[in-house]
Amino acid sequence: MNKGVFIFSAPSGSGKTTILKPILEKMKERFSFSISATTRQPREGEKDEVDYYFITPEKMREHIAQGDFLEWEEVYPGKYYGTFKSELDRIWNQGKYVIFDIDVKGGVNIKNILKDKACSIFIMPPSIEELERRLRNRNTESEETLKERLLRAEMEISLSENFDYVVCNDCLDTAISKVEKIISKQIETWNA
Ligand code: 5GP
Repeated sequence: MNKGVFIFSAPSGSGKTTILKPILEKMKERFSFSISATTRQPREGEKDEVDYYFITPEKMREHIAQGDFLEWEEVYPGKYYGTFKSELDRIWNQGKYVIFDIDVKGGVNIKNILKDKACSIFIMPPSIEELERRLRNRNTESEETLKERLLRAEMEISLSENFDYVVCNDCLDTAISKVEKIISKQIETWNA
């Protein structure tokens, strides 16, 4: 079995999770999500060691100092996120491909480290205006955090050229089928 990882990144509100869900449901015996560490508090329903490894800022600093992370980042002020190097072997040892659902900068960093072992896919919103509309409809953001997310989205979109593939989510079914094709083609390449 070849060791490969798929990286999915997108600005918040692009529909990445909606695209990934049905694909991974179909192929769950072949893929497993890398579980990140974070210093943020668990949200309702989130479980430690399932959604994240929820750790204290002190533990985070220790792991950073020990070089335990493939990459780490302060994604929001005071909120740290990191990918343990050990996640790769944990999942590869199960004979599965690793899936990273990670912010855009983290995605670029992992691609730069793992190179041909990684296939990186950027999910592009149809436009900033549409992204704003979706974020407003979600009703989860205050005016201030909405502005923050839109500003961040512009920066993230400017990094999309660093990804192997860019899939525009203007039609959900088309986006899902494009991602499925990319995954199949990449697995064929790794197995060739
Ligand atoms: P949330 O707090 O909403 O779960 O995640 C916030 C952001 O952090 C999302 O964009 C998510 O993809 C990103 N993220 C999750 N895990 C990691 C990680 O290990 N490294 C980096 N760089 N970003 C992460």
